[in-house]
Amino acid sequence: MSTPNVPLFELTTQYQLLRPEIEAAVIKVLESQQFTGGWAVESFEQKLGALHGAHAVAISSGTDALLAALMALGIGAGAEVITTPFTFFATAGTIARTGAKPVFVDIDPDTFLINLPAVAAAITPATGAIMPVHLFGQMVNALKLAEIACRHNLPVIEDSAQSIGALDATGAVMGTHSRCAALSFYPTKNLGAYGDGGALITRDATLAARFKQTRQHGETSRYHHEFVGGNFRLDAIQCAILEVKLKYLDQWNNRRRAIGAYYNQRFAGSAVIAPVTAPGNHHVYHQYVIRAPKRDALRDHLTKHGVGCNIYYPRSLHLQECFANLGYKPGQFPHTEQACAEVLALPIYPELTDAQITRVADTVLAFYQ
Ligand SMILES: *Cc1c(COP(=O)(O)O)cnc(C)c1O
Repeated sequence: MSTPNVPLFELTTQYQLLRPEIEAAVIKVLESQQFTGGWAVESFEQKLGALHGAHAVAISSGTDALLAALMALGIGAGAEVITTPFTFFATAGTIARTGAKPVFVDIDPDTFLINLPAVAAAITPATGAIMPVHLFGQMVNALKLAEIACRHNLPVIEDSAQSIGALDATGAVMGTHSRCAALSFYPTKNLGAYGDGGALITRDATLAARFKQTRQHGETSRYHHEFVGGNFRLDAIQCAILEVKLKYLDQWNNRRRAIGAYYNQRFAGSAVIAPVTAPGNHHVYHQYVIRAPKRDALRDHLTKHGVGCNIYYPRSLHLQECFANLGYKPGQFPHTEQACAEVLALPIYPELTDAQITRVADTVLAFYQ
C-alpha cells in the first residue's frame, strides 16, 4: 500500500477532529447575536493575554495588527522603520502605508532572521521604530534587540505572525522585551481562524487601551474621535473559534517540533541544509525551510512525486516593484538574495502522519541519490 500524497498543508483533518466543539462555539455566538465586540471577543482576549502574561487586543488580521500598532505609536511620514527584506510582504507594506519609510537590513544566513549588528548600524536620527520578524516560527533574540533599541529610545514592534508559542533564548515570549507584538490568525498559521484574524500583545495597559481605540476609528466615546484609526475589529465568531483552538496550541506546536526534529535528523549529513535553530531558542516551525542545491529541480521532483512544497520567499522585498522608489539594488543584501534562490518549505503541520513525514524525507533524499 502506498502512502497518500502529502500536501504542503491541509486543514480538513483538524476541522474533522474539532468539529463538534467548533460548531457549538459558533452557534453560541449566532444565538447571542453579539457579532462584534462583547463576550466572545473579551473571553478570547483574556485567554490570549494570559498566555503571554500581557494584554491582548484582537485585531482583524495580522496585517491590520502591524498597521494599527504603527498608527497607535504615531509612526508616519518622516520616520524610518528598520526591518528585514526576507519576510511576507505585509511587514514592509504596513510601514509604507503609514507614510514611513521601510529601511531594510540583511539577514543572518544561518537562521534567516534579521541581523542585529546590521540593525544597530542602520539607526539614524530619523529612525522611528524597529520591526523584527520572528520568521518561520523562530524568535529573534529579543533581549539583545531591546538593548539596541533602548540605547536609542526606539520602540520595537515584533512581527510575530509566524511565531505564536515560540520562546527566545532567554525563555521569553513575544511582547516581553518590546512595546508590542503582532499576531496573525490566517488559517494556515500555527493558530488559525476560519478566515482572517490577528491580535496585538503588549505589557503596557495604556498602549493596550490605545490599540482598542485605534481599532474603533480612534473613538474615545461614541462619535468622539480623538485621532484617526480604522475598523480593525476581529469578528466575535472568529474569536469563539480561536478560543476553542487555543487549548490545542501547545500540543500542535509540540507535534510541529517533533516533525522538525525528525526532518533534521534525516537530513543530517545529506546535501540538504536543514534549518538552524539558534542556541536556546524554542522553535515552533510555522514553516520547515531547507536550503537545497538545485532547488528548482528538487521542487519539480517533489511535485511530481506528490509531496507539496513552496518557496518562502522567492523575491526579497527590497527588489519589489512597489519599493523601487526606495532605490535598493540587486546585490545589496547578499544573504537574503541567496536565501531567495535556495530555500524550499516542506510540509509541517500537526496532523501529518509518521508515514507522511517519512515519505517527505525519503522523497527529498532520493532526489540527491
Ligand atoms: C501572515 C503574516 C503577516 C500578515 O498576516 P495576515 O493575517 O495574513 O494579514 C505578516 N507578517 C508575516 C511575517 C506573516 O507571515
